[in-house]
Order: sequence, then structure tokens, then C-alpha cells
Amino acid sequence: MGHWCRICGRTRPNERFSGKGHRTHVCQDCARLPKAQRDAIDQEREVFGYLKQSRISEQNLARVRSLAARAVPSVAELAAVVIAVAEITPFKKGRLRVLARERGELLAALERTGLIDAHHG
Ligand SMILES: [Zn+2]
Repeated sequence: MGHWCRICGRTRPNERFSGKGHRTHVCQDCARLPKAQRDAIDQEREVFGYLKQSRISEQNLARVRSLAARAVPSVAELAAVVIAVAEITPFKKGRLRVLARERGELLAALERTGLIDAHHG
């Protein structure tokens, strides 16, 4: 048993969560982190998640653009890579092949940032 924390990614005993933390999937330790740090973790997961989708829609792209504009620098960098990739290859299938052929620098950016992991498994 236990409950999953979306910030630290651990499954922890239920007593490590307050009532509110239980609903929002944030354990008591993570609830004490600065809000900016928690937001950055949430935003990074969201940006990463778009690359895992079979297709990045226009609506997704608009969302990533707005995130890029207000996220902390490390997340804004990830978002910028996702935006550039989605504009060229919105579909996951064949994406890495297209990038390797046409946009080697974007493929390198995916590798450098670790975003490429979204395409494996
Ligand atoms: Zn946690």
C-alpha cells in the first residue's frame, strides 16, 4: 500500500501525506519545498509528457509556449526544444529519423537535455 508523490516520484506510506497532500499527490516532505521548485518539477514532467504522446497538437504547442514564457530557465530550455521539435515533427512515429536526417542540432538538443528518453520505452 502507500501513495505516490508526484514531486519526488516515490510511493510513500499514507501517513506521509496530509489530507490535501493526498488529493494533490504531494508528500509532506515535498510540501515543504519552495513552491517555485515544486512548480519546476511539475512543469518539467508536463513538457516531457508531450514528447511521449503519439502527436503534439496545436493546443499542446500553445500550452508549451505559455510554459516556456514563464517557467524557470531550466524548464524553459526544455520547452524551447519541444516547441522546435513539434513544429517540425508533431508525430512521435518517425520523429527521430526525420530529425537525424534534417535537423541534427535538434536531435543533439534532445540528447543533451535527456528529453530523448521520452522516445524510448
Ligand atoms: Zn514527495
